[in-house]
Amino acid sequence: MSEQYQHRARKRFGQNFLHDAGVIDRILRAIHARPGERMLEIGPGQGALTAGLLGSGAELDVVELDKDLIPILNHQFAGRDNFRLHQGDALKFDFTSLGASPHSLRVVGNLPYNISTPLIFHLLDNAGLIRDMHFMLQKEVVERLAAGPGGGDWGRLSIMVQYHCKVEHLFNVGPGAFNPPPKVDSAIVRLVPHETLPHPAKDHRLLERIVREAFNQRRKTLRNTLKALLSSEAIEAANVDGSLRPEQLDLAAFVRLADKLAEQNGAE
Ligand code: SAM
Repeated sequence: MSEQYQHRARKRFGQNFLHDAGVIDRILRAIHARPGERMLEIGPGQGALTAGLLGSGAELDVVELDKDLIPILNHQFAGRDNFRLHQGDALKFDFTSLGASPHSLRVVGNLPYNISTPLIFHLLDNAGLIRDMHFMLQKEVVERLAAGPGGGDWGRLSIMVQYHCKVEHLFNVGPGAFNPPPKVDSAIVRLVPHETLPHPAKDHRLLERIVREAFNQRRKTLRNTLKALLSSEAIEAANVDGSLRPEQLDLAAFVRLADKLAEQNGAE
């Protein structure tokens, strides 16, 4: 990069730039972008992944918050007619403004770790637009996303993301691949929204509520944590053992509890 475009990484924007060519190549191969595909990159930074994505011939929109990176990105890529740059906060970005057809948008990003969970929830609000998502995240977040019931990683994040998506933990990336190196290990995850939900809830906001209440006190039994929402009898009627703790329940069981609550609310 020329002198004119020297950029100092900013902590408050979660900037850890990828510089390991082998890791960049492995990520690009996992994404496998094709000509004409609609892609959205969150936080392109100095363009480590952007260059390869554009080189594939995909139609790429990028959203970058840091104003100081805009000239750096424009200098490298503004000449490409498959590149569109949006300066702003991805958490507030209106994904429908891209005009992508249903299940077409491929979202990628080496995400700033401080916003990764709210950003995933913001994207899931638009799950119908999305074909798949590939993210670099803190390794422990990927472990929670990909967890199954029965262990300490299974919680609100695993359940609400798996309600919408198939989750694959692809590979881990050590701190040395970034500049500056983060203090934690990272991992690449692939999220593929289900075209048809395997366990649709009558009202997904009630599912969110049940899951939040249950995991607020994860050591307590469901009978105890859910008592303001569902009686012991209602829990049993949903075919759930109220003496279990939340981490012992699978997604389908949480959906049965949410549907019981929907039924009960409807009857009031
Ligand atoms: N993709 C680049 C790479 O792999 O080298 C940069 C990754 S860096 C971990 C995260 C990037 O996201 C930074 O460029 C940062 O400025 C940007 N960013 C941080 N918060 C953002 C937000 N709310 N919306 C959009 N971009 C954001």
